[in-house]
Amino acid sequence: MEILRVENIKKWFPVRTGILSSILFGEKQFIKAVDGVSFTIDEGEVFCLVGESGCGKTTLARLIARLIEPTDGRIYYKGRDIVQMKKKEFRPLRREIQIIFQNPYEALDPRMRIYDILMEPIKLHKKHFEGDPDERIRTVMRDVKLNPDEYLWKFPHELSGGERQRVSIARSLMLYPKLLLADEPASMLDASVRSSILNLLTDLREEYNLTLLYITHDLAQAWYLCERIAVMYLGVIVELGKTDDVINSPLHPYTKALISNIPIPDPRRKTEAIEIKGEVPSPINVPPGCRFHPRCPYFMEGKCDKETPKYLDVGDGHIVACHLYE
Ligand code: SF4
Repeated sequence: MEILRVENIKKWFPVRTGILSSILFGEKQFIKAVDGVSFTIDEGEVFCLVGESGCGKTTLARLIARLIEPTDGRIYYKGRDIVQMKKKEFRPLRREIQIIFQNPYEALDPRMRIYDILMEPIKLHKKHFEGDPDERIRTVMRDVKLNPDEYLWKFPHELSGGERQRVSIARSLMLYPKLLLADEPASMLDASVRSSILNLLTDLREEYNLTLLYITHDLAQAWYLCERIAVMYLGVIVELGKTDDVINSPLHPYTKALISNIPIPDPRRKTEAIEIKGEVPSPINVPPGCRFHPRCPYFMEGKCDKETPKYLDVGDGHIVACHLYE
């Protein structure tokens, strides 16, 4: 059953310009961080948004958590449009939709002990919390594999990066969420700690019956963790499908390049890394036609730089936006 539906969502941030430049250049400029993204997630699914930094994936997570308001589009959670909801109406749903941030060093208040950090969500939603708060805190600490007796009275600076991220995850679990938005939760951690956090999320998903939207720049993490992958480039999805289909039969030239760069520790599997030339263009000046055209090795002049490719379903929900398949 569908739990989340994102429909043509957009988030454009106005660019602050001086009076002189607005007189000289006229039109207001926007950073088109998310520019018409649509997808659905089923209950219990692990869905991954992959893309380079700046492609709009974090903005998308913040939109779904309603930390920011969209410029346009709809977001349905359990069939209800949360974009149209008043803040008060959305409040009970905030307990169900939780977000884990990328930086465990910034996500926790350095002046608070771990106990108080975990007590905060209970205090915020005390009307809806049933049971013994202390017992809940201890249970969640054990769920994230931290010994409550050892950690509850410590401050965040006394913990390692991995332990802090476990506390962030614990905080997000306090009120029994249904949809967890994990924004690069392992990217700032060492490789060994990273895999332990990925394993923890896999276990918690089962234990808590969670739906997970996992955001990463690392396609290898998505491959390990997710059932479906959406590849984002410059504010739009360029390819979406089941993980095996996207990884084993990538269609979009950008996805192909990302996959060719995943390090595979198998000497028999020889794939040449595809280099993507140039930098990601500015989201203020999005290239016309296909946004990837200035960097694409298959660029077709007069087509790719003029016409925006449509989404094409090549079967089994494997969707691509590229003129090569039209
Ligand atoms: Fe490359 Fe053209 Fe496809 Fe864009 S539409 S990815 S430029 S071939």
